[in-house]
Amino acid sequence: MKKLNIPDYVKNILEGLEKAGYEAYLVGGCVRDFLIGREPHEWDITTNAKPEEIQKVFPDSFYQNEFGTVGVKVKDLGDTSINSGHTAEVVEVTTYRSEEKYTDKRHPDAVKFVSKLEDDLARRDLTINAVAQSIRGDVADPFNGRQDIKDKIIRAVGNPDDRFKEDALRLMRAVRLSAQLSFDIEPETKSAIKKNANLLKAISHERIRDELIELVGSDDPEKGILLMQELDLLKIVLPELEEGVGITQNKHHIYTVFEHAVKSLDFAAQYNFNVYVRFASLLHDIGKPRTKQGGGAEASFHGHEFVGAKMAARALERLTFHKDFIEKVYTLIRYHMFYYNVGEVTERSVRRLVKKVGPENMAELLEVRQAERKGSGVPKAEPYKLRHLKYMIEKVSRDPLTVGMLKVNGKDVMDILGIEPGPKVGYILNALLEEVIDEPERNSRDYLIGRMKELDKLPISDLVKLAEAGKDKLEGEKEKEDEGIKGKYYVK
Ligand code: ATP
Ligand code: MG
Repeated sequence: MKKLNIPDYVKNILEGLEKAGYEAYLVGGCVRDFLIGREPHEWDITTNAKPEEIQKVFPDSFYQNEFGTVGVKVKDLGDTSINSGHTAEVVEVTTYRSEEKYTDKRHPDAVKFVSKLEDDLARRDLTINAVAQSIRGDVADPFNGRQDIKDKIIRAVGNPDDRFKEDALRLMRAVRLSAQLSFDIEPETKSAIKKNANLLKAISHERIRDELIELVGSDDPEKGILLMQELDLLKIVLPELEEGVGITQNKHHIYTVFEHAVKSLDFAAQYNFNVYVRFASLLHDIGKPRTKQGGGAEASFHGHEFVGAKMAARALERLTFHKDFIEKVYTLIRYHMFYYNVGEVTERSVRRLVKKVGPENMAELLEVRQAERKGSGVPKAEPYKLRHLKYMIEKVSRDPLTVGMLKVNGKDVMDILGIEPGPKVGYILNALLEEVIDEPERNSRDYLIGRMKELDKLPISDLVKLAEAGKDKLEGEKEKEDEGIKGKYYVK
């Protein structure tokens, strides 16, 4: 067996425990990843030393959680070439244990320390995660995890049905690891997942979210989402996505709504796009089942991007995603239908698109479109169009898009018109911005000062309209349609 390339700070802990007369093994993800040939991203150690005893060996350690896991602080990360940039400051050291009853399907009611390594390995979720290796290369592998790693198989340790009943987070861990490692789940384990899928409802949304992020961010997220669907986990975690299963589209598509979602995600992963683009690619069409009108080749999904963006935001909120994460994915879905044809689309409309989407989101919006086009199975020749659009975006990005870029500011408005601070100042600036968006040449002090004097004379209601409602007429009409659809489908 190959020797693990163990960083010094981990070696020190293993040796420290052995010198003090205890057993110490690397275990779990790091051994698994090493055997697969992947770089371990953290190092977990298991030992027969009790938590107090670990603390005696490493006075600088502390209790990591209420279950007696000890975090050993790592001061000297040593040779960074060996540590290959690892910044871990704490290594988790866990006393051999057998966890027994899980009333809440997540946390063991009681932790029972045990003296044999084999008993600790027996409480672990999957055979590939139940291999232990000492610093001298001794290996304990009572469940043939190494064989399963060779065969690329995910298999529960012991009786799968019992193991998923004990802790339902394992349902997600199994599919997530299947996506990350491109391993298949062994049939008995698979049917136990399906049978116990409902138990996932007892697991906290935060835990599910973390697994889902890893799954979607993995090398093979298509495999993971398809497995979730097949094994009935998707209808619990993302019922909105499940709605698209079997929903056919129209003459522009060869895939169902769900198939298209998964293929789009797959391309986003192949292009190595970030996690926001991946989630947006997966969820961009979830509004389709609820907006479908007609059938066959002529079916339409009018307004699905509005409905879908809202549905996605709600789903991600439910799963306790961070607010910024939700906002970004919402924007990418909301605008994924942006219209773009070389020659037909003006600078003005591109400028408006950039303003609505936000310059910081434009690159990702284009990536969503790219993944989604590829995932439609009938990709039209868009690369040139997208390249041209990128050029247009760059071009218009040099022109003003926010009131901050106007050649006059709020103080000018107040001084020149002799008005007090208040909403009117903002209305005037926004009305001026609207004109400059249409024609950037108007962004000169002379022109803007002349215009602000005229705007000053307008009744306030007209001014508000110019500043806000007039912002984008087309947009306003689309939003109205959206309201109609929302009324039809939304309770809240
Ligand atoms: P990752 O590469 O994501 O860290 P991991 O398998 O190391 O994957 P951890 O959460 O770090 O996952 O857990 C470390 C080890 O603890 C696992 O390899 C497994 O042996 C065990 N383990 C973790 N979660 C569970 C669980 N829910 N049930 C049983 N054993 C678990
Ligand atoms: Mg780990």
